[in-house]
Amino acid sequence: MGRLTNAMWRMLGAQTSRNQSQSLSMIADSAAHDEWAKELESSAFADTASELDMSRSVDRAKFLAMVREGGTRTLDMTPFDVQLQGALRMLEGDVVEMATGEGKTLAGAIAAIGYALDGHQIHVVSVNDYLAARDAAWMKPLYELFGVSVASIDEHSTRGERQEAYDADVTYASVNEVGFDVLRDHLALREDELVAPEPDVVIVDEADSVLVDEALVPLILAGSTDAETPNSAIHEVVAHLKTKHYEIDQDGKNVALTEEGARFVETTLGGIDLYSEDHVSTTLVHVNVALYAYYLLERDVDYIVRDDAVHLINAARGRVARLQRWPDGVQAAVEYKEGLTPTQAGEVIDTITVQALIGRYPRVAGMTGTAITAGEQFRQFYDLGVSQIPSNAPNIREDEPDRVYDNKAHKVEAVVDFVAEIHETGQPILIGTHDVAQSEELAYFLERADVPAVVLNAKNDAEEARIIAEAGRKGAVTVSTQMAGRGTDIRLGGSDGDAEARDEVVELGGLCVVGTGRYDTERLDNQLRGRAGRQGDPGRSVFFSSLEDPLVVKNLTHQREQQPVSSDGSMGPKGAESVASAQRIAEGAMLQLHSDTWAYNKQINEQRNAIVRRRMTVLTTEQALDDLAESAPERYEELSGDVDREVLVEAARQIVLYHLDRAWADHLAYVADVQASIHLRALGAQSPLEEFHKLIFAEFTQLVDEAMDAARETFTAATITADGVDLGLEGLHRSTMTWTYLVHENHFASAGAQAIQGIVGIFR
Ligand code: ADP
Ligand code: MG
Repeated sequence: MGRLTNAMWRMLGAQTSRNQSQSLSMIADSAAHDEWAKELESSAFADTASELDMSRSVDRAKFLAMVREGGTRTLDMTPFDVQLQGALRMLEGDVVEMATGEGKTLAGAIAAIGYALDGHQIHVVSVNDYLAARDAAWMKPLYELFGVSVASIDEHSTRGERQEAYDADVTYASVNEVGFDVLRDHLALREDELVAPEPDVVIVDEADSVLVDEALVPLILAGSTDAETPNSAIHEVVAHLKTKHYEIDQDGKNVALTEEGARFVETTLGGIDLYSEDHVSTTLVHVNVALYAYYLLERDVDYIVRDDAVHLINAARGRVARLQRWPDGVQAAVEYKEGLTPTQAGEVIDTITVQALIGRYPRVAGMTGTAITAGEQFRQFYDLGVSQIPSNAPNIREDEPDRVYDNKAHKVEAVVDFVAEIHETGQPILIGTHDVAQSEELAYFLERADVPAVVLNAKNDAEEARIIAEAGRKGAVTVSTQMAGRGTDIRLGGSDGDAEARDEVVELGGLCVVGTGRYDTERLDNQLRGRAGRQGDPGRSVFFSSLEDPLVVKNLTHQREQQPVSSDGSMGPKGAESVASAQRIAEGAMLQLHSDTWAYNKQINEQRNAIVRRRMTVLTTEQALDDLAESAPERYEELSGDVDREVLVEAARQIVLYHLDRAWADHLAYVADVQASIHLRALGAQSPLEEFHKLIFAEFTQLVDEAMDAARETFTAATITADGVDLGLEGLHRSTMTWTYLVHENHFASAGAQAIQGIVGIFR
């Protein structure tokens, strides 16, 4: 998976600029149709548009003129050439890079209209429900002018509303909702219960967040089984360990007992041998889960406790992630640690990663402020090209060199001094942090320095949007994690667009963005910087780092030579070099992790596709009865005498669906088990990945046969009457309660062979 050579980059660059100049000349040509478009009655737009043949360049030019006129008429926004350019590239299936505030919402809508006129069904995928609803409502007048129907769904939409929304030409939704709909179709027992449509075109907003940063987040559909209570004796002993009893590895991702710790646990639990056959896959696993919960997961960093419940904090967004929980053992262990009643454990019914979800669509396009730096991932994992669209007005933001300090205390001091000094002038400041705890801490120090700050924290998306929209007001100091409030425009002077207030802030130099530490990738740094200097506004950005930042500590493990430090702890350019090289190492590691993890996921995803196809056939045809009639001909004869064919078809369908679903859930549990132990199993054998593939393949080849055998047995033994079959009476119970969630922990493919890796792995 080597990096692209310079020559390859140049080639791609040439390709891109050729494509771009084609787009540009088409946009120039479109001006010739402006008069014609102006003359069009609004009522004539839809019919005129439907007659366009988008494969002809003259019709495309007409389309652009119509869009320009339509945007002016319905949204009071005349699309800029760069927006049309972005839309054209998205119609070619690229990810476009357009800076924050360039108007990607409109560009995406134009692309969606283009696809719709070409007969496609489009999903516009956003990072959250709030943005999906906002953008659909905002763009609706334009869609309607073109006779293109549009709808959005959110967390609360009913099945009926979802089906209706997916029937529209264009559907706006968060990536989670789309994924959960796909998963929930695995519960459908009748064809009319299906919700997710056949995938066609997807346009992904904030494409790098969704397709790269969150690509391997598994979305999970779970059902209730008997609750599994954590073993309190194990928790007691783990809670009382001393630091000499366990060891946390360098990057803080794994924790394990030391020799002394193991002895302590063994003695306390009554003289057992943790590594014996009896305990290695039970007690030891529970101990490791508890260790993870107690010593790696930190309250207010990884989760918060509110209303007597544990809420996960999504590290990437620094906000509470609703619907999210850890794999069951870990969740229960954290609840135990916090003295809460452990919530019900569940069984995974089906699961899909975001990457696999997007992979279902034959056509993918995307837009983001930071695409180029994720170009390698887009190509490698999605076969997507990237186009850089110039900004409408030149960017005059000043990105200052990093300020690097020897330790964290010096850094925080410097940030507070810097902010206080700028705040004196009235220039608005947006401070980006890495997590909620850091935001709180900084706000506290700012408060002490008489700089009152607004902190964006674990609130809902709509509220965050409201707050961040005011971050450009004179005198505002806003502290936010990197993702919070994304997609919301920060207007200088405030969201009401008051011209005087704006001029005042422009005079002061626009928005000043302060980073409190580089992120794991420069791309995220740039997203934060991009909050300032939108649409040619003035602005500045500066990052403060320290050699004690997690980025540096985790990635620059070998100690660097001593570097000169001033009395305030500030360092020369060598300090900045250290931070930059830590970031490069982190970027490389993440790319590797992504590709390793995908190597594990890919096979399960193919198996999932096979099962889903099979399930669909059973659901929509009479295949189930045909199969059972063939495998149990006598029983079929017998039943055909007494029971209507229709009833028999339905009974066979329910029986086969039950066993197919059962087999798939069992398979997923098996996969999780294999993952938990793969590093141990593979010792001395081949690579863990090969071993994994072998085991999972072998198991899957028997899956359908075994399910069909079980179905034949039920078909033969069950009571089937004119009313059909009651599987409950046969002792075959489906989950009575189901729920969906995501798992953000994703350490499975990282180095090291701790059992915990499987437990926080990707399929529970
Ligand atoms: P992005 O998603 O690229 O950050 P948005 O789609 O949120 O940007 O748009 C940013 C702002 O620019 C919005 O306030 C929008 O009203 C404005 N805008 C976008 N396109 C135009 C246009 N063609 N003319 C005037 N204003 C526009
Ligand atoms: Mg946007």
